[in-house]
Amino acid sequence: MSRFLSDRLKALEPYTPGEQPQILNLIKLNTNESPFPPSEKAVANATCEAEKLQLYPDPECKKLTEEIAELVGVAADEVLVTNGSDEILNFAFMAYCDTENGAAFPDITYGFYKVFAQLGSIPYIEIPLTDSLEINLEEYKGIGKTIFIANPNAPTGIFIEPEEIEEVIKANPDSVVVVDEAYVDFGGRSCIPLIKKYDNLLVTQTFSKSRSMAGARLGFGVGCKALIQDLNTIKYSTNPYNINRMTMAAGLGVLADEEYTQANCKTVCENREYTQKALKELGFDVTGSKANFIFAKHPSVSGEKIYQGLRDRKILVRHFSAERICEYNRITVGTKNQMDAFLDAIRAILKEELK
Ligand code: PMP
Repeated sequence: MSRFLSDRLKALEPYTPGEQPQILNLIKLNTNESPFPPSEKAVANATCEAEKLQLYPDPECKKLTEEIAELVGVAADEVLVTNGSDEILNFAFMAYCDTENGAAFPDITYGFYKVFAQLGSIPYIEIPLTDSLEINLEEYKGIGKTIFIANPNAPTGIFIEPEEIEEVIKANPDSVVVVDEAYVDFGGRSCIPLIKKYDNLLVTQTFSKSRSMAGARLGFGVGCKALIQDLNTIKYSTNPYNINRMTMAAGLGVLADEEYTQANCKTVCENREYTQKALKELGFDVTGSKANFIFAKHPSVSGEKIYQGLRDRKILVRHFSAERICEYNRITVGTKNQMDAFLDAIRAILKEELK
């Protein structure tokens, strides 16, 4: 740290992204990426667009905004496209939280919420998940803070029906409720239709997971026109050209290939169910994820041992050190072959540890 860093940032603990190791032949199941390549249409479009990189991209991101609006069934002025969904989440913290309007989110959830709060010197409360790692929605009703709920939640993968979340939106009419749907395409149901009824709901989604575009950085937010205007004010005050030309073109390409996306999501769901079932048969507790990852712990072998045993076998999963979840590992759902290799490794680890 230099002696110039603002006092306000001295205690900031930045977000730690999952490891991106350069180890050969590694099976990488640690950052919830898609195991499938991007759509060929996305690649072709981005390649073509590379020839125009001397020109700034469209700051309004007009065509892509219109296409996303059509995809999710809203008007174009109810959508804002961002550089990954991390950017729209950051915008939401900037727009709707300050020292008087604090934030509320679960104690176990996407780690970036806490970082955004700390970055903006925003007071926040972390509401504990229940013993079964579920979000207790009752505790959010009438709380008078800007609420952030990941649905499905991360890293548990547990999904809540939109009708239940609606009760929280209804019970906090004077606060914004942000529903982060990064993983909703893997068997969940979106809260987006509720934006027609509630002016305090912002839903965020991403192209990183279901659309195999984590490397392109493309996300979006959906809310009533006034909320989108607020968030545009932040965008034009920070990064007006937030979507680069190649990403914009790739986004249009993948949207023209919706069958490919749907087929990949279906395969991920099948592989998830297959792996969750096999893990249960091996004695694991699994949370019953509706995301593209599985959250599992074994009653007799520690989370750390399993993580290390997998790593020794060139399989990388995500292990968190937080006390409540340190016995678990989060395993990204990959191809059937990858999941079979993972299960073989798990069997070998259990054999070794339980002999
Ligand atoms: N929300 C959740 C719950 C996530 O796990 C992630 C991925 N790390 C994001 C948002 C952000 O994803 P991206 O910026 O790639 O859209």
